[in-house]
Amino acid sequence: MPLEYDEFAIRKALRQCWSLDTAPQWSAENPANGQCNVTAAVIHDVFGGEILRTKMPGVWHYYNQIDGRRADLSDSQFTDPGARFEAPDPYQDELSSRDAAMEGIPEREYVALKTALLAALPPYEGGCACGAVRYRLTSAPMFVHCCHCTWCQRESGAAFALNALIEADRVVLLSGEPERVATPSVHPDGQEYCRCPHCKVALWSHYPMAEVGRHKVCFVRVGTLDEPQHVPPDIHIYTSTKQPWFQLDGKAQVFCEHYDRAKVWPADRYARLQALSA
Ligand SMILES: [Zn+2]
Ligand SMILES: [Zn+2]
Repeated sequence: MPLEYDEFAIRKALRQCWSLDTAPQWSAENPANGQCNVTAAVIHDVFGGEILRTKMPGVWHYYNQIDGRRADLSDSQFTDPGARFEAPDPYQDELSSRDAAMEGIPEREYVALKTALLAALPPYEGGCACGAVRYRLTSAPMFVHCCHCTWCQRESGAAFALNALIEADRVVLLSGEPERVATPSVHPDGQEYCRCPHCKVALWSHYPMAEVGRHKVCFVRVGTLDEPQHVPPDIHIYTSTKQPWFQLDGKAQVFCEHYDRAKVWPADRYARLQALSA
């Protein structure tokens, strides 16, 4: 199946994939720095469309056009700390080419980014500890919660729970059948854990959600994915009870308690949730 152009998921994956191997100007605080050439080439080769460019002081800035819309996937370099340039205003949108974007860029940097990005995009697979239950997520999740509430701490035995919220019909069982266990939670109606019937590891849970009820969304436990590093949190919630030794890294939004999904989720993500209530 050809890869779906899912800009939110691709942007998130790129932040995990950019490195010193993909462009030597990379830094932890500004990972997109210097990555525009190789990013434009990889996105073009994987998703098609055109390559555009705009003039910056002394250099060209390259980006993509997908389905007729500008897609500047390395534009966080203009807003993250240590930015070298102001964001283009306006963008010149000059039609360019892959060869122009890659001029003078070592091929190994292109290969490093393409390899990392393809590994970081869905489908993602995961499973329990004994291997009886295996599953596949057929798309990126809608949103990823890092919950620091005391219920999650108790139920995980750790400092927080990391849950990827995704439509239940995008969680495909490859083997086994989880058992459902009603468990109290921060929500007064509790949650329902889906656990391996043998090793009892929790794979996902169902919470009541105002928009769609209980069973249309799975809260997948990110730690059960085979490659959980590709699914970092979008938000930290209930940080009023966060363990004091855990330092937030500033890359995700932070709420002391719960939050309003309609205001916080990107519009295309919230539209996916609303589509479930139709
Ligand atoms: Zn198991
Ligand atoms: Zn919680």
